[in-house]
Amino acid sequence: MSKQTTLDELGEFGLISHITKKFQSQRDTTIRGIGDDCAVLQKDAKNHTLVTTDLLMEGIHFDLLFTPLKHLGYKAVTVNLSDIYAMNGIPESITVSIAVSAKFTVEAIEQLYDGIKLACDTYNVDLIGGDTSSSVTGLAISVTAIGSVPVKQVVYRNTAQINDLICVSGDLGAAYSGLQVMQREQSVYEQTGGAQPQLEGYEYVIERHLKPEARKDIIDQLREANIVPTAMIDISDGLSSELFHICSLSNVGCHIYEDKIPIHKETSQVVAEFEVDPVIPALNGGEDYELLFTVPIDSYKEVLKIKGVSVIGSIVEKEQSLSMITRSGSPVTLKAQGWNTFE
Ligand code: ADP
Ligand code: MG
Repeated sequence: MSKQTTLDELGEFGLISHITKKFQSQRDTTIRGIGDDCAVLQKDAKNHTLVTTDLLMEGIHFDLLFTPLKHLGYKAVTVNLSDIYAMNGIPESITVSIAVSAKFTVEAIEQLYDGIKLACDTYNVDLIGGDTSSSVTGLAISVTAIGSVPVKQVVYRNTAQINDLICVSGDLGAAYSGLQVMQREQSVYEQTGGAQPQLEGYEYVIERHLKPEARKDIIDQLREANIVPTAMIDISDGLSSELFHICSLSNVGCHIYEDKIPIHKETSQVVAEFEVDPVIPALNGGEDYELLFTVPIDSYKEVLKIKGVSVIGSIVEKEQSLSMITRSGSPVTLKAQGWNTFE
């Protein structure tokens, strides 16, 4: 028998490129296939269609011991909408597919769909279909989001230019910190045989983990300011990993400044309890669903006017690699340490 390869030898990204390398686009309407936040399809002379999909598995992506089903439904939708916004697009519709085991009641599935409905209403998208199956164990949810973008405004990951400013929305590392708090309270609960979780003072980080929003407001403000970013990605696997995607695909390097990385006060307090430097979850945590984008340097004043955007550094030549200037002024090389599905 020929040598068999384990999944962790390739990792998630290695596996995706391995299984997809034989699939070249065959149709003129496929403007961009695999490799960005969404696939881009030709819709008409003025607009492209955007398509993205995500799969959430119980035990891998969520733990129902501390995830309310309504929140889970909401999050399953917003993480997909985030990928539409990351192309500078507007989401229009979603399909939702679920596989459910016998341990779930109708009322439980109703709660899941209450969250899906809330997200549809909040972001003005229609649920247009899906699929329903039974499952041997646990719950799986797959959402596909469809949107559109004017041809001249679509933004890819691979088009950052040297000297561009690097911008992020909101703040980073909060969702990971919220997950840490909930996992800690869970183990206290188990060890003490039922001590009530202490969640006061952790509301912000927990909300960021359980109920992330997609940054429609940022895309709206960019449009109002007439700014089309040169490159964009949503931050699902930590700032380092997403910078790595933008820089390697654009063939450039970057310099970011540690003291410019936006971190919420509560995030800093929480990570201090775990004796971790707050920059670590910002660089390598997951699930912030903020936007990371680059703009030409002459947009500096305009971009600073956008509520909730920080300028954290600039794009440099590839030879200068990816580095962060620490608070003490010394450069460190960034590594893409995002989540590995198979670890
Ligand atoms: P994101 O983090 O933005 O959701 P991913 O890292 O999941 O993106 O995926 C990277 C790219 O690979 C995307 O273009 C996605 O559509 C594609 N992709 C992921 N898994 C598969 C698969 N099993 N088959 C084909 N394409 C895939
Ligand atoms: Mg994405």
